[in-house]
Amino acid sequence: MNLGLKNRVVIVTGAASGIGKEIATAFYKEGAVLALADINLAGLKKLQKELGERVYVEKVDVTSPENCQKFVKNVAKKLGRIDVLVNNAGTAKMGDMETFPEETFRAHAELMMYAPVRLTNLCIPYFKKNGWGSVVNTASIFGKQPGGLISYDTIKAADIMITKDYSAYCAPFNVNVNAVCPGPVDTPLWHADGQLGDQLAAATGMKREEAIDWFAKTNIPMGRYAKPEEIANAVVFLASEPAHYITGVALNVDGGMVKSTF
Ligand code: NAD
Repeated sequence: MNLGLKNRVVIVTGAASGIGKEIATAFYKEGAVLALADINLAGLKKLQKELGERVYVEKVDVTSPENCQKFVKNVAKKLGRIDVLVNNAGTAKMGDMETFPEETFRAHAELMMYAPVRLTNLCIPYFKKNGWGSVVNTASIFGKQPGGLISYDTIKAADIMITKDYSAYCAPFNVNVNAVCPGPVDTPLWHADGQLGDQLAAATGMKREEAIDWFAKTNIPMGRYAKPEEIANAVVFLASEPAHYITGVALNVDGGMVKSTF
């Protein structure tokens, strides 16, 4: 299948690690020109070196309106156009419901709810100019069923509604807007020190990798976490020309973990 992504200018946020890194790599393999944003500039530069030409990187904190405005302007100036936006930067934290810090909740909302809205709004004028555009938001299955992470579940559910609202708003400009909803994915978000794997280990009394494996075996019909490239493949497809009539969808990529028919 020709995905029609050659020379498309693709923005990916949170591209220095995990799912974002694989999304960037998958678009690059399709011949796209990349504009990669992350707070981790060293990680971006490493990826840029691995991939080759056709990659622009910028240190961007997506929670900063000024950073986002500057980035989008720079991308349009340096690369001439913007075709695809992938809102992927994010994080997660387990915590007790009654004592979950309000400031962490707010910070998560800044990062995973306001930032995608802000960046979508900043890119829409460029999509209108092209007469074509595509947005893919990395939501989560925990936006569809609770994962016990209060801020994360709430904000990912909002991301699905943001996707739906923007899909209707953007359709007249020939822009599709979709979300991917991964189940648990093998990334540093689970495997790095202090992250979800360690938090799950603390809650279960197991070792980190043992807890991750237990969670997969007891919750995911396929019995394992996704590989980040399995999420990237879905993102690239949703942003492709053959998928352009698909809009407003929140696609599970979860090894069968969601039980509902939605
Ligand atoms: P990750 O920690 O490997 O990568 C997240 C990236 O986002 C990092 O490179 C980080 O530096 C960047 N980032 C964080 N704050 C930022 C900011 N303010 N501005 C710019 N960049 C910032 O995590 P991941 O697992 O690859 O997660 C990527 C996305 O996928 C997140 O939105 C996450 O919620 C979602 N997701 C992950 C899983 C999973 O199990 N790993 C499941 C469902 C959804």
